[in-house]
Amino acid sequence: MSAIRFNALKETLNRGSVIVKEKSKRSELFGKNVFNEQAMRQYMTKEAYQSVMDAIEYGTKIDRKKADQIAVSMKDWALSKGATHYTHWFQPLTGATAEKHDAFFETIEGGGAMERFDGGQLVQQEPDASSFPNGGIRNTFEARGYTAWDPTSPAFIYGTTLCIPTVFVAYTGEALDNKAPLLRALQAVDESATAVCKFFDKNVTKVNATLGWEQEYFLIDKALAASRPDIMMTGRTLLGHSSAKGQQLDDHYFGSIPSRVMNFMRDLEQESMLLGVPVKTRHNEVAPNQFELAPIFEEANLAVDHNSLLMDVMEKVSHRHHFKVLFHEKPFAGINGSGKHNNWSLSTNTGVNLLSPGKTPMKNLQFLTFFVNTIKAVHDYEDLIRASIASASNDHRLGANEAPPAIISVFIGSQLSEVLDELENVTKGKLSPQEKTDLKLNIVGKIPEILLDNTDRNRTSPFAFTGNKFELRAVGSWSNCAGPMTVLNTIIAKQLKDFKTEVDSLVDAKKLKKDEAVFNVLREYIKASKKIRFEGDGYGDAWEKEAKKRGLSNNKTTPEALKAKISKKAIALFEEMRVMNKVEVEARHEIELEEYVKRIQIESRVLADVARNHVIPTAIQYQNTLIENVKGLKEIFGESFEKYAKEQIELIKKISNHIAEINSKIEKMTDERKEVNKLKGQKNADAYCNKIKPYFEEIRYHADKLELLVDDNLWPLTKYRELLFTR
Ligand code: ADP
Ligand code: MG
Repeated sequence: MSAIRFNALKETLNRGSVIVKEKSKRSELFGKNVFNEQAMRQYMTKEAYQSVMDAIEYGTKIDRKKADQIAVSMKDWALSKGATHYTHWFQPLTGATAEKHDAFFETIEGGGAMERFDGGQLVQQEPDASSFPNGGIRNTFEARGYTAWDPTSPAFIYGTTLCIPTVFVAYTGEALDNKAPLLRALQAVDESATAVCKFFDKNVTKVNATLGWEQEYFLIDKALAASRPDIMMTGRTLLGHSSAKGQQLDDHYFGSIPSRVMNFMRDLEQESMLLGVPVKTRHNEVAPNQFELAPIFEEANLAVDHNSLLMDVMEKVSHRHHFKVLFHEKPFAGINGSGKHNNWSLSTNTGVNLLSPGKTPMKNLQFLTFFVNTIKAVHDYEDLIRASIASASNDHRLGANEAPPAIISVFIGSQLSEVLDELENVTKGKLSPQEKTDLKLNIVGKIPEILLDNTDRNRTSPFAFTGNKFELRAVGSWSNCAGPMTVLNTIIAKQLKDFKTEVDSLVDAKKLKKDEAVFNVLREYIKASKKIRFEGDGYGDAWEKEAKKRGLSNNKTTPEALKAKISKKAIALFEEMRVMNKVEVEARHEIELEEYVKRIQIESRVLADVARNHVIPTAIQYQNTLIENVKGLKEIFGESFEKYAKEQIELIKKISNHIAEINSKIEKMTDERKEVNKLKGQKNADAYCNKIKPYFEEIRYHADKLELLVDDNLWPLTKYRELLFTR
């Protein structure tokens, strides 16, 4: 066995568990390192506290004097927890998080020193961020970017650093990060949804979008991962024959969690608790070494921050336990990939979940209003939702017969389908008293308060109603939820705004009662959005054909899918809802295309390296052994040697053939890459997708065949069975 592979396996097998004990009750750990309401009350003046709360609730500005007060109390709190540094924590367009640490420590005149942190440092910073992708925004405007405090997401201490969640914007106002557009989308949905809520309940003054994500991931021993250049460089295996046993026995799903993994999870959960990330469930997933972690849902901005933070913490904690965590959507061919379901709903400041049916017909009409509007919004912007989850790595998952297809559709279950079917028949215009009573008692009133157990869950749907929330399942495990959450909340905001206008105009022009008007508009929406509803098997070929007939988009690759982001319709939407202007939309699109190209380019290079430097030399080495063997047989048996050397000669030929195929394909791919690199933008991405990427499978095919033929003792790359089953 090659030294690298042998040592990696040995290290893994000898690994003990880093035992993690429960520090104390989870509830006692929760939020201990967060500057939350409790800490703020303790450290802040009443005035300063109130100004933060107002900023959270109503988006009011915090003046400089108050900011100074807040900064001082934040610093005092942080120092009491042993923090020495602070950082503006932000989410650049790379999808990861970024931070630049500054010490509180400052020298003062006379040779002394003190810890200092004022309002200016809290509110605004200028990171040296010239190397973050900006899609030309800052070059165009020759403006620098700065980070600005987001008071709606509380500061926290990680390690010995006080982290202050911030947005990252250009001086000209353009957003350079993922958070700023999300905050604007959340504000838009708040405005539209609150206005619609007032039809039903005047007391509602704020609506929050809620998000509960479910993070899937793989855990691989650190030494094994390090023995695979492809995993280290690209996050996935570019080569590797499937092992005899994969996931066919379904023995991993909900099976007992191995103790080493359990210790990692315990450690991770304790860290999460301290940071106020309310993780709740953990279990094995379908594939070997695949797991899932889910929190209690939160307000969407906070939930997005918590997911980004958690992914970061997971990497750090996994090192302590000698694991490498893989967030890639498809690390292993033939093995289930990882996603990040985004459970989404809207909730009022009066404590009502707007996607949960209520006790009275009126509450149910409110539920139906938000329910139908959501379906209509997804119908109108299905291609934009698909675009919001597009990435080079997620392309492996979508439509790959195990994950939601690249076609966006909505599943609502048979019960609610019946309700919508009946609502389609509501009379146009004024309703007779009889019809009104009928509607309220027999249709709207019939929706059971608790749908949770009644919705038969269709696991193949990319956007499913699951009783009191919608679940966007197409989001990739590696991605930042901010992208899809920005799109979803923007389209809902737009939809609800249009809905209100239509209802109001029916009330004014046609003199309809409000509830009549609501029924009338909903009826039209149900009819208009019918084609997005699909209750059947989303994985089958039949659905692909059917979806095509219905005119739904089916964009299988990122370069195709991303086009929807810069369509006239999309730009008009983002501008109308004041989420992004044209420059911001186009800059993002450019960055995402570039990111796609870079990922495929890196994979192409790594694949060529591994095939040339690892696979082919090993194959030749083994072939030489065979040649020696044949020569020896000839020596012993003379002319009749062929009888004894038949198999070996066959093998020698096969190996030569595979080597030749790999070599020529790498050469072609490399030449093609040189050509493709001359292209720009969309054409460049299209070419990487359609001309470079197809070589991967072809090269892999031959390399994986060699893996089967070559002596296991010589094979340099850690095999699937070792990666997936060694713990
Ligand atoms: P699963 O999809 O695995 O069956 P659940 O349906 O129990 O799991 O919940 C999945 C996630 O949905 C959890 O993270 C939970 O917090 C979240 N969730 C529940 N209610 C809401 C809601 N109103 N808004 C957003 N997320 C929610
Ligand atoms: Mg789920």
